[in-house]
Amino acid sequence: MEYKVVDHKYDVVVVGAGGAGLRATVGLAQRGLKTACITKVFPTRSHTVAAQGGISAALGNMGKDDWRWHMYDTIKGSDWLGDQDAIEYMVREAIPSIIELEHMGVPFSRTEKGKIYQRPFGGMTTEFGEGDPAQRTCAAADRTGHAILHTLYQQCLKNNAEFFIEYFANDLIMDNDGDCVGVMAWNLDDGVMHRFHAKQVILCTGGYGKVFFSATSAHTCTGDGSAMAQRAGIPLQDPEFVQFHPTGIYGAGCLITEGVRGEGGYLTNSQGERFMERYAPHVKDLASRDVVSRSMTMEIIEGRGVGKKQDHINLHLEHLPKDVINERLPGIAETASIFAGVDVTKQPIPVIPTCHYNMGGIPTNMFGEVLKPTKSNPNAVVKGLMAAGESACVSVHGANRLGSNSLLDLIVFGRAVAIRCSEVIDKNEPHKPMPKNGGEDSLERLDSLRNAKGDIGTAELRSEMQDVMQKYCAVFRTEEMLEEGMSKLKNIWDNKSDIRVNDRSLIWNSDLVETLEFENLISQAMVTMASAKNRKESRGAQARDDYPERDDKKWMKHTIAYIDNKTGKVDISYRPVHTWTLTDEIDYIPPKKRVY
Ligand SMILES: Cc1cc2nc3c(=O)[nH]c(=O)nc-3n(C[C@H](O)[C@H](O)[C@H](O)COP(=O)(O)OP(=O)(O)OC[C@H]3O[C@@H](n4cnc5c(N)ncnc54)[C@H](O)[C@@H]3O)c2cc1C
Repeated sequence: MEYKVVDHKYDVVVVGAGGAGLRATVGLAQRGLKTACITKVFPTRSHTVAAQGGISAALGNMGKDDWRWHMYDTIKGSDWLGDQDAIEYMVREAIPSIIELEHMGVPFSRTEKGKIYQRPFGGMTTEFGEGDPAQRTCAAADRTGHAILHTLYQQCLKNNAEFFIEYFANDLIMDNDGDCVGVMAWNLDDGVMHRFHAKQVILCTGGYGKVFFSATSAHTCTGDGSAMAQRAGIPLQDPEFVQFHPTGIYGAGCLITEGVRGEGGYLTNSQGERFMERYAPHVKDLASRDVVSRSMTMEIIEGRGVGKKQDHINLHLEHLPKDVINERLPGIAETASIFAGVDVTKQPIPVIPTCHYNMGGIPTNMFGEVLKPTKSNPNAVVKGLMAAGESACVSVHGANRLGSNSLLDLIVFGRAVAIRCSEVIDKNEPHKPMPKNGGEDSLERLDSLRNAKGDIGTAELRSEMQDVMQKYCAVFRTEEMLEEGMSKLKNIWDNKSDIRVNDRSLIWNSDLVETLEFENLISQAMVTMASAKNRKESRGAQARDDYPERDDKKWMKHTIAYIDNKTGKVDISYRPVHTWTLTDEIDYIPPKKRVY
């Protein structure tokens, strides 16, 4: 095994150039830390570019608003699994963070008075849930992620951050103390391996939506960073909570933003009935996502789905004025036309709940430091390692994320990790030594996959995994289904040893990239299914038919799921939910029944 390895030394290495990675990178570069950002796709092709609807903050530009109401909504949305101190941090920091983005140059849509335009979004209300829907979601038409990502990339370049573009990060490098000292990456363009030595590595690698067959996420959303953490012996927190977005285009999976319902769009069943009035009489189509997804699934199960197979639902915007569609939802009109063949001014869009977001991820505290909880210390920090964005679980979204709170999470915690690094890194201190064989095991893993001569192609195994997840671990779950799903997944896990890679080269070897990504996906599929089976209650996105109620006595706690990287066995322990706030400007919000 001969690989050319190039060594690098940085204060900080950020893995990922989506919203979280770029916001972290700008902040680090502005603070004078020598920073490298590694990304497998060109920065502005990261999945954040696809975010449509917007980013929340209680700016109050279009009606009265208060960060406390935003906090209440987020906690209720999380079905009381979110950590209240972290949520307070996020909703308060939302306001200066958005103003910063505005000053960096994000081209937000504007009100007549020239302020940032804000639209209503699911679960966002006023007066602690008692008032009208809040207009809290700041938008740049229906291309908010695109606008943010481009602006952040420009700011990174302006501040001289260094980029390693189309480099695939393979593994973390841990030392004998269990601290992270760097990361291994493969330059896809020339086949050379790179060993990055750093005082902090920050994982911003996004979610793992691609474990499911139907997902709104890009093909690149394979949760690589979370799997790198798993290989380094770090658990994932709350992986069973997977958000299904109510409105993925039937058949294609592409997202139709919740902003459509925010602008007045609504859902109907085969009888033309606005069924959300029955499930959420108060806010109807603007109930939170898990509630709308379940209601749609119920309609379909009970035979009121639309279409030949009665297996989807209609989303209407024909009644909206044309200028609203042109100004606020132009991308949606285009997407619906291309992927559903529908003219939204004349026909409804066929939609179905589709995997959209991972609430779970690498456990962190609110500074972004990665946690490896122990019995005596649920907040034990892994030195040298941080995470932010969808790959992390702070946890601000708990069991269900509200729409427009993810872009916010990226920006607030991308900023927080940069602030934290400037506090904990002394530029003049030497790096912790790189172990002599640092990165060797990663090269061995790559080499063995590159030369894998088994009988099963990667695509075949991946599609089996996606089908199993879709069938056994989607919107509704039962013990029986999960049991069966788990044993099928285990088979797929075992078949990894019989995988076949055809291309042995090191330059643009997409066969090998997809195999590495599949390895990353399957270990997250395993903990997701095992944790769903373990949690015997319904909460947020976890809807157990056999345990329909939320059980706060037994289950108001975070899942901490470890995987044995050899056998695939999943071990589960727990971490307490933070039931305290950050300041005394707001009291702890105790659990109550979640109705909309
Ligand atoms: C279609 C769609 C619409 C959405 N709309 C909204 C919205 O309107 N509002 C909202 O709040 N949320 C929205 N979300 C959710 C939100 O956009 C995502 O959660 C968020 O963009 C994730 O950002 P991220 O920075 O964590 O990761 P990503 O944007 O997914 O970026 C991941 C980065 O990691 C890099 N990477 C990954 N693996 C490796 C590796 N092995 N080596 C090197 N680099 C790697 C990639 O190159 C990429 O740069 C939407 C999501 C989707 C899918």
